Amino acid sequence: MSATDVTVRTARERAGVPDGQPLLSVQDLKLHYPIRSGIISRQTGAVRAVDGVSFDVFPGETLGIVGESGCGKSTTGRAIIRLENPTAGAVVFGGRDLAGLNTRELRRARLDLQMVFQDPYSSLNPQKRIGDLLAEPLVAHGRASRKDARERVTEMLERVGLSAQFKGRYPHELSGGQRQRVGIARALMLDPTLLVLDEPVSALDVSIQAQVLNLLRDLQAELGLTYVFISHGLGAVRYISDRIVVMYLGKVMEVATTAELFAGPRHPYTEILLDAYPAPNPHLRATQGGRERIVVEGDVPNAAAPPSGCVFHTRCPFAQDKCRTEEPRLTTDAQTGGQGGEHAFACHFPLEVGRPASSGTPSSGPTAAGESA
Ligand code: SF4
Repeated sequence: MSATDVTVRTARERAGVPDGQPLLSVQDLKLHYPIRSGIISRQTGAVRAVDGVSFDVFPGETLGIVGESGCGKSTTGRAIIRLENPTAGAVVFGGRDLAGLNTRELRRARLDLQMVFQDPYSSLNPQKRIGDLLAEPLVAHGRASRKDARERVTEMLERVGLSAQFKGRYPHELSGGQRQRVGIARALMLDPTLLVLDEPVSALDVSIQAQVLNLLRDLQAELGLTYVFISHGLGAVRYISDRIVVMYLGKVMEVATTAELFAGPRHPYTEILLDAYPAPNPHLRATQGGRERIVVEGDVPNAAAPPSGCVFHTRCPFAQDKCRTEEPRLTTDAQTGGQGGEHAFACHFPLEVGRPASSGTPSSGPTAAGESA
């Protein structure tokens, strides 16, 4: 049995989720911010930060969410743990829709569902010592006496690679990497089953990023954790994720295993993201088929007035008339008669599977999702 199998089994047992069932299921999630104007503050529109996002996260896996700044990935993460109230849709965690829980039930469910933020400094009270910051959640939720909490703090600091000496220090005395380790430790103090990691390494130097990513991997294997890993950095997402969701303008463009996505994206937007990704190995692009670059023009449209049809059509070099009027739904190769299994994409004219080097063209004819859907 591989280490991954053990992690999955441990995570499933801890979460009490039946075999094959997701730990977290995000269903048609929407989060629209009203735009108000006039003396009576009448709603005149809405910013569609998240607009119909769906995905599952299975016990023990890491689901990466990637996209440009403003694509809605962080808002999705905040809506999952209920830091933001969704406008519509469901977040089902451990078989229960969080929207249906009363305040007390939601408070309890949240203990199992913790978040790690990009900037740990802003999430740590600068006036408190690290020991107190870590003990706080345990004591506040009645999970441990002060004495037991202090012991647990020592244990947790060691687990995240810091010594017990850090208990007496203040956040400003720590480096960025040490603060992020404290942020992770704090999220783990209540023994959650799922962590939403919102750009957890984006503010760190590259060498420190690798250390924190390795720590997250080790903790996942040791504790049977499940991660939602949000980042605009494809390198970090690729390194840590089992599957990846690509978002653009509040919507899901593509969902695939990490290997499938990097070997052959089906959505033009994903292809553009991959082109912008500086491959760590200079030979990587060649081994991936030496694709020609797809040129994208223009800025990301305003989420208060998203384009009709496919939201990417204003920048997509392959856009056709159908793309301007009809929104493509997320569909899989399997549903369209292809060989790509559960690799899902929202495009009327997806890129070819395993297309030859430098093709850079969408598929056409009967295999195009839009034609057979
Ligand atoms: Fe481009 Fe059309 Fe596909 Fe949208 S649906 S990504 S516009 S080809």
